[in-house]
Parts: sequence; C-alpha cells; structure tokens
Amino acid sequence: MKKNTKLVSAGRKAQYTQGVVNPVVQRASTVVFDSVADMHEAIKERGNRTLFYGRRGTHTHYALQDAIIELENGAGCALYPCGAAAISQSLLSFLKTGDHLLMVDTAYEPTRDFCDKILAGLGITTTYYDPMIGAGIESLIQDNTKVLFLESPGSITMEVQDVPSLVKVAKEHGVITMLDNTYGNGWHYKPLDHGVDISIQAATKYIVGHSDVMMGVAVANETYWPELREHSYLLGQCTSADDAYLALRGLRTMPVRLAQHEKAALQVANWVKAHPLVDHVRHPAMETCPGHEFFKRDFSGSNGLFSFVMNKGSQKAINAFLDALEHFKMGFSWGGFESLVTANKTMSGLRSTTGWHEGPVIRLHIGLEDVDDLIADLAQALKVYEQNC
Ligand SMILES: *Cc1c(COP(=O)(O)O)cnc(C)c1O
Repeated sequence: MKKNTKLVSAGRKAQYTQGVVNPVVQRASTVVFDSVADMHEAIKERGNRTLFYGRRGTHTHYALQDAIIELENGAGCALYPCGAAAISQSLLSFLKTGDHLLMVDTAYEPTRDFCDKILAGLGITTTYYDPMIGAGIESLIQDNTKVLFLESPGSITMEVQDVPSLVKVAKEHGVITMLDNTYGNGWHYKPLDHGVDISIQAATKYIVGHSDVMMGVAVANETYWPELREHSYLLGQCTSADDAYLALRGLRTMPVRLAQHEKAALQVANWVKAHPLVDHVRHPAMETCPGHEFFKRDFSGSNGLFSFVMNKGSQKAINAFLDALEHFKMGFSWGGFESLVTANKTMSGLRSTTGWHEGPVIRLHIGLEDVDDLIADLAQALKVYEQNC
C-alpha cells in the first residue's frame, strides 16, 4: 500500500468502527466485566487494545493510536492531553534524579522551561547543545547522560538537525533519543526510520488541523514502548474520547491540507525573500536555512511554517507591523487552517548556548487563505514596519 491509502485505512478495524466509516466515540471511566475470567483477561492484556479502565483508553483511542503508529512506523503510541504533556511525560518516564539530559538549544520554549524549572528541581541536569553540532555531540556526553532530545527544525529559528549523526553517537553511548517531530509530523519525516527511539508531536498542530483540540502523542520503538506506556499511565496521562475522535478526523485530511500549506508557504516565502527589509528567510526548503542540506536529504516535504530575519527594526516597528496585519492573526500556535504570526525582537532568553546576533525574527504560519491576499497583507504591514523603524 502507498502512503495515502495507508493513512485512509489506518485504525479502521471493524471492532472500532462497528459498521460505519469512523470509530465510535466511546466515552468511559468504568469498564465492566461479565465474568471473573473476562476480568482476568483484561488485566493480563491491559494497554493492548482490550478494555480495562477508562484511563487506558477505549476503542476511539485505540483507533487513533493505531493510525499514529502507522504514520510514524512505531511499536506503540501514548496519548497526552497536549504536546507539552507528551514532552514532559516522555522525559519523566525515563529520567531520574542524578541523570543528565542533552537538550537542543532551539527547543520549544515550554520544553526549555520544563527542564530549568521542573527537572532541575528533581536533580536532573540539562546541558543545551548547538542544534548544528552533529557528531560533535560526543564531547558533551557524560557518564550519567540518559536522554538526548532533538527538535528539528528548531523552534522559531528553524535549524534542521543532522539526526543520523546525533543518533549514531547516542547509540554508541546507550543514550535514549527523543525528537519533537511536530514540524515533520510523521508525514514528511519519520524519526523512528532514522534510528530515533521516541518521536513526539503536538497533535494540536497539523493532525488536529482546525485549532480546536489540544493533543499530544509519543510514538516509541519496540525497545522503549513498554516503559513509555507504563510510565505515562502511572503519570496519569489520558485524553477524552471526543478529542481522540477529532484528532483522528483531522488526520484523514492532513496530507491534502499539508500539500496546500506547503505550496502557499513557498510562494509567500519567495515573495518575502525579495523584500528589501528582509535579511534572509528561514524556510527549511530554502538554502538560507541552517541545515537545509539535512532537510533535503531526510524530509519528503515542508508545510506552512517558516520564519524570516529582518535587517533592521525596533520593538515599535514590530508592534506596528503586528497591529497592521489583517489576515495574519497574532497567536502562538500553528498547524490550523488559518494564517498566524509571531515576532521576536531578539532570541535572548530563548537560547543559552548559541546566542542570537541577528535582527528581529518574524514567524508566519501560512493557512488556507488565497496567497494573493496574504502577500498583499504582508506588503502593506511591512510598509508600516518601515515607517516605524
Ligand atoms: C505547540 C508545540 C508544542 C506544544 O504543544 P501543545 O499541544 O500546545 O502543548 C510542542 N512542540 C512544538 C514544536 C510546538 O510547536
């Protein structure tokens, strides 16, 4: 089966769908057993697609999990109430006091805060590494290094990592690798195929796709699935059947949405690139993005998210620009059908190892509006930017 066909049929077992196209929305806390034998069977099979207790999931959750496992080529998939929970609970499932974590310096801001505020308090130390370090990561590995965490492309500044080089060193040292794959999404990038142990996503973004559900997923390989499953369960991680249903519904149309986001974002990025106020564009599919060569080698496509660096600008100019935009709404998320914008005057506070010596960074999510309207909107708002520089 080719990949679109696979995604359409994934997770649609008769047991889950009961004669219709989509799985039933099976809401449950309590599961009841008809006999002691049934109960013992459920205890033995818990976590293995046998109803046991609401927190272990129902047929709606199993359908979503099966589909995500197929998307990411994993052995198992844990569901979380949001992407941030998927990250924090995956880390907590494997780290203990005295362990050391290697975290990419371009991590999503709440990931960094989790390390600095929660893990530090538990006696787990974090070293932030340059996303472009590649095999040089070896020099940062300590005797107590337990996890190497990647995020590629990096948050806001979009550096694409050389995943195979990093994974090779980690494997040689028995270090577990986890990757925030919200951008690559399982459709354009499958980390487990490249040796990563656990692939994590904010399903909130492209899987849900409609800006109306929070959801996180973590997919593990055979080696780490049993521990991830059991520890996430003990940490109390679960999601509602309604949210699981909506995430699965989003997943069915994700490839066609992604194709449109990709096409439109490339058109906008090419327009932005030529603007005199813009120093360079950080779109993974464009040469000016650090790690573009790894993107070309490892990814099958891009999506609606990219950033660009201004060659001058003040906070006043940024604020005026943001207020002038009409179709791009200010919002911290991405992956929905609508266009969004965020802006950072500087990256300081968000980077500790690599620093930031360039101009303001504007990040766009290109939604499903007409490209001409989006470009016209940017053109008029950039004029306002210039007037306020
Ligand atoms: C949004 C996002 C998250 C967090 O997901 P939530 O569902 O909002 O908690 C994690 N990583 C990346 C890269 C994200 O963009």
